[in-house]
Amino acid sequence: MARMELKDVTKSYGSVEVMRDINLAIDDGEFIVLVGPSGCGKSTLLRMIAGLEPISGGEFTIDGARMNEVRPRDRDIAMVFQSYALYPHMTVGRNMGFSMEIAGAPKEDRARKVAEAAKVLGLEKLVDRYPRELSGGQRQRVAMGRAIIREPRAFLFDEPLSNLDASLRIEMRLEIARLHQALKSTMVYVTHDQVEALTLADRIVVLEAGRIQQVGSPLELYERPANKFVAQFIGSPTMNVLPATPDEAGVRLPQGATLDLGREIATLGTVELGIRPEHIDVVDPAQGDIRAKADVVEHLGSDTNIYVRTEHQGGLMVRVHGNIAMTPGAPLGLRLQRENLHLFAADGTALGRKPALAA
Ligand code: ADP
Ligand code: MG
Repeated sequence: MARMELKDVTKSYGSVEVMRDINLAIDDGEFIVLVGPSGCGKSTLLRMIAGLEPISGGEFTIDGARMNEVRPRDRDIAMVFQSYALYPHMTVGRNMGFSMEIAGAPKEDRARKVAEAAKVLGLEKLVDRYPRELSGGQRQRVAMGRAIIREPRAFLFDEPLSNLDASLRIEMRLEIARLHQALKSTMVYVTHDQVEALTLADRIVVLEAGRIQQVGSPLELYERPANKFVAQFIGSPTMNVLPATPDEAGVRLPQGATLDLGREIATLGTVELGIRPEHIDVVDPAQGDIRAKADVVEHLGSDTNIYVRTEHQGGLMVRVHGNIAMTPGAPLGLRLQRENLHLFAADGTALGRKPALAA
């Protein structure tokens, strides 16, 4: 069992505060993914949970027990890093069972645990090999095996797949998802890979400059981002953001159409309008909300990305499902799907989605 809770946690290095107001409750068995730009504090937060970095303020508990002063090895948490740090002179099996060896566990117990972990991770045929005889993905698996064998109450991962090439990353991502299903342990996972975050997480925590911006399921973050930062961080390609002016019926695009939102937007001054590339329809040049010209067309097979130039709204990204023919320079009309518009106040706070706005 491991229900973890961070209450008003802060972190300072000397006089520099790098994290603040960290409040987060992680349920037993939950898969939490921490995302955010480089330097936002993902590793620092993970290391505070592991006990590798002191907590400057606030409290961290596991199953209700205060952990702030508890040594890392007494927290019963395993951490898997980007670098595998395997012992080169030991076989895979011995590497995996080494924590038990140090603890003086009987040889048969060790062998049984190693065999079990090797089976979970598909390493059965490799237990007698040395790390130098393994691929990067296999080494990462051994590092995970080493963590599993300790039977910790929680696992922490800091960008464990970032050294692997693309196809291996996908394979290992599935492996980690399976591992979570099999062990049902609490897991906290740091990544800068969108797809990893969206596919693995029960809930995603978005960090920016040492503060939590939003916590929610992948779909909540995608559909109802709390602010412009989260809106533009989650989703690929990035959400388009355009300036807009509120008026009686909705919002007006600069020198363009008024988008009827069914009511007046109660805000002072200008707002910004957000729309994801997949929520813009390509229509006849004479129709739509915005006139544009195709600039660069990318055929991805399953989808087509069209970078367009507009006269008054700058460059926009449009994503169309399927493989459509489009010549660069071709004029087109763009229609913004009303039900998928986001609005942001001047400070970036989300003003709610259209159904909520119209209510
Ligand atoms: P991330 O993992 O999200 O890229 P980090 O947790 O490594 O970010 O860093 C968060 C912030 O803390 C950064 O601004 C970084 O410069 C600072 N930081 C990290 N470690 C130290 C340290 N040992 N001394 C001073 N500042 C540090
Ligand atoms: Mg980091």
